[in-house]
Amino acid sequence: SSGSDENDVVVIGGGPGGYVAAIKAAQLGLKTTCIEKRGTLGGTCLNVGCIPSKALLHSSHMYHEAKHSFASHGVKFPSVEVDLPAMMAQKDKAVTNLTRGIEGLFKKNKVNYVKGYGKFISSSEVSVDSLEGGNTVVKGKNIIIATGSDVKSLPGITIDEKRIVSSTGALALSEIPKKLVVIGAGYIGLEMGSVWGRLGSEVTVVEFASEIVPTMDGEVRKQFQRTLEKQKMKFLLKTKVVSVDSSGDGVRLTLEPAAGGEQSTLEADVVLVSAGRTPFTAGLGLDKIGVETDKVGRILVNERFTTNVPGVYAIGDVIPGPMLAHKAEEDGVACVEFIAGKEGHVDYNLVPGVVYTHPEVASVGKTEEQVKALGVDYRVGKFPFLANSRAKAIDDAEGVVKILAEKETDRILGVHIMAPNAGELIHEAVLALHYGASSEDIARTCHAHPTMSEAVKEAAMATYDKPIHI
Ligand code: FAD
Repeated sequence: SSGSDENDVVVIGGGPGGYVAAIKAAQLGLKTTCIEKRGTLGGTCLNVGCIPSKALLHSSHMYHEAKHSFASHGVKFPSVEVDLPAMMAQKDKAVTNLTRGIEGLFKKNKVNYVKGYGKFISSSEVSVDSLEGGNTVVKGKNIIIATGSDVKSLPGITIDEKRIVSSTGALALSEIPKKLVVIGAGYIGLEMGSVWGRLGSEVTVVEFASEIVPTMDGEVRKQFQRTLEKQKMKFLLKTKVVSVDSSGDGVRLTLEPAAGGEQSTLEADVVLVSAGRTPFTAGLGLDKIGVETDKVGRILVNERFTTNVPGVYAIGDVIPGPMLAHKAEEDGVACVEFIAGKEGHVDYNLVPGVVYTHPEVASVGKTEEQVKALGVDYRVGKFPFLANSRAKAIDDAEGVVKILAEKETDRILGVHIMAPNAGELIHEAVLALHYGASSEDIARTCHAHPTMSEAVKEAAMATYDKPIHI
């Protein structure tokens, strides 16, 4: 352990925010210690978030394709079945390999790794209850809080991780539920709903708001919802969950229209509560050193990630902003660059968002609703994947590229893509927005044929002029 020698940087939390900050700090020549209570590195993202969900999304997609699409491509099996324990083992292997990989990166970069629960005793000292027993004090000139977030339940609903589960339980069910009810139509609910739906569950998504994924461009959202409905996902929008009763055999939900009115009931084998996440600072001793938080418990920082307490910083899910792994990583790098006396920068307008269903939906910049609200004159260019040769060649052509550009300057304001690999396609648009590109800049860039990326080029052509292939 680090004993009492002073660190330049101490990071509390080993998630995407914390571990990236620790590695970057060490790379910049700062003596660095990272404290993590979980026993493994990688935080929510690697252990119970991004990675296991993508592993299950991929495996369940393979099963679904094998069962429903392979035959039309001339690939036939006598029968296809799910081996759930094997699927879970594959997911667990991916998680273990990646979390161990980060331990390896810590060794390589000489980041000191302390396993235990960190708690402030002063603004430069953290007491750690070690996972192996005992207690040590870790000192640092600069301390970065990267304690992330935790699942949030709803009033009156107790998560037991068996029949009433959070995303963590939904990543580790031991049986395929016949009926799965998902509370909350955000990206996590839709991704986990897709996993179990593909494996055979009847999935109903209950959402209080009038639409799914509220941050999405409205037009793309409508098309996305129709696509999910074709996949047999059911939606009960503008609906409130009044109570959830798991005292009997299954689970019984009592619902009510969001605006009030007659109640109804819904039966389920498993209920997934995915109604958002909440910043995690329990037991950290923030009050002891007087770190300011907002009403929902997020730590307040300035643009240099400094809290109101000098020498104490915060990054990632525990501060305001999108709760996304890549945003936490950007925070981590910029925060450490400031500490090292360099300049750091994160453009929060250009953090891409991806829903990893099939097709995926990815976006960057402004939605059409946001552009309208700004009152600027704009143009829209769209191109459907039905007219993209690669998408047709592989018979996976559901989706669209939509580009919004300022009318006067042609500068791109936002890009929204629904496509099988939208999460990869979006980065051309992220880069374009970073460089302040026009739609014509993308349109005049040579794109390889036949690729799905050509749909981005054609949508750009459609924004300032005409596309060729439609
Ligand atoms: P976290 O990853 O939450 O890490 C914080 C760490 O700090 C934890 O490991 C915790 O144990 C530790 N810690 C907390 N308090 C202490 C303490 N006092 N002492 C020591 N250690 C402490 N984001 C994406 O970008 N893409 C995705 O596809 C995606 N999918 C997701 C799917 C699911 C099901 C979930 C739940 C989340 C998903 N996310 C995704 C969100 C992503 O996981 C988070 O945004 C990201 O993990 C935030 O990183 P962080 O470092 O701020 O916090």
